[in-house]
Amino acid sequence: MKSICLLGATGSIGQSTLNVVDRHPDRFGISALSAHSQVDALIDLCRRYRPKSACIVREDLFHSLREGLLAAGLDTEAVAGADGLDCLAADPASDTVVAAIVGAAGVASTLCAARSGKRILLANKESVVLAGGLLMRTVSEHGATLFPIDSEHNAIFQCLPQGGGRQGVRRLLLTASGGPFLGKSREHLHAVTPEQACRHPKWSMGRKISVDSATLMNKGLEVIEAHHLFDMPADAIEVVVHPQSIVHSLVDYHDGSMLAQMGLPDMRTAIAFGLSYPDRIDSGVAALDLTTIGRLDFLTPDTDAFPCLELAYQAIRRAGNAPAVLNAANEIAVSRFLDGQMPFLAIADVIAATLDAVSWEPADDLAVLLASDAEARRHALAIAERLN
Ligand code: NAD
Ligand code: MG
Repeated sequence: MKSICLLGATGSIGQSTLNVVDRHPDRFGISALSAHSQVDALIDLCRRYRPKSACIVREDLFHSLREGLLAAGLDTEAVAGADGLDCLAADPASDTVVAAIVGAAGVASTLCAARSGKRILLANKESVVLAGGLLMRTVSEHGATLFPIDSEHNAIFQCLPQGGGRQGVRRLLLTASGGPFLGKSREHLHAVTPEQACRHPKWSMGRKISVDSATLMNKGLEVIEAHHLFDMPADAIEVVVHPQSIVHSLVDYHDGSMLAQMGLPDMRTAIAFGLSYPDRIDSGVAALDLTTIGRLDFLTPDTDAFPCLELAYQAIRRAGNAPAVLNAANEIAVSRFLDGQMPFLAIADVIAATLDAVSWEPADDLAVLLASDAEARRHALAIAERLN
């Protein structure tokens, strides 16, 4: 029986994880749950799963959580804030941590799970982008295990030689759906709204990652993620647009073989894989019917309409704190766009200008990276204000 700490339980990945867990009560139990501010939803989840502890990140909601748990007659311990997340991630009551918080807010708890030697199902890609080198070192020093819960990285994990080693691998190919604006020109993109950007043609996801998919920054973040997770140089990682979202990514070998992992676009496949590895269990995802799909297309990304992808490659080449700066600027720009304060095309402009504004630092230490993150957020906000 695995005991699971689910960080980001109220989100899209959180809900998909619980859906897989519900199918296998004999295999999985929930030991801890967290949410940012939806305290009632968190209490409802505690009623259903009866975890040992629950964390509400917004500290002003701590009393509501504690009172709600008491009123429900539960002995679940209430904690709050970023420290509360760390306590959950480190608690020996769980052997598995699902890192499904969105944004850089997930980095500290992911590192904490790594320091505690946990089996980590990593959806929070921003923590790899912000602190990839540090995270990979911490994982290996403390005997933790990482399972990527990003469909592309999960696909690559499945296609790489098992047991580690990159022998014979020529390239990694990350597939991109192209998002809701595939095939659109820059002129068209000028006036697109947050609702249009969040209407993804293939995947149902949280709002931040949906906008990242629309700008192609999601793929940029994923290139950085692949660079760290699989220890591959940026020029051996390519992006190919694949609108059907059936091939989730590929590994190209020197002998001419190319291995792909395919499936319907549903995160429960990757989550079930990570939860039960090396076993394969029912995830609730239907079998792929190739004749219904009919055809699979592959295209080159349009980096003129979607410059964010190239910015991510630039950040890898600059190394040091540049990926952290890119990530922070993107989080600010996306949240301004979602709040209707900035046009879609300005997202890339804010990121490019922030990358130039923040001075380069090495990426050895979390304090330096978090300082760069904070500095980048200040610059990005100021740049966004000027663009208005
Ligand atoms: P979401 O917005 O649906 O959910 C985010 C979760 O994080 C919620 O539980 C929320 O309460 C919590 N949260 C938000 N802000 C927080 C903060 N400041 N501190 C602590 N917790 C906070 O997001 P999602 O779509 O589930 O994505 C989660 C992560 O998984 C992201 O990093 C995303 O890039 C990655 N991911 C998602 C998908 C997908 O299909 N949704 C696919 C691949 C990777
Ligand atoms: Mg992905």
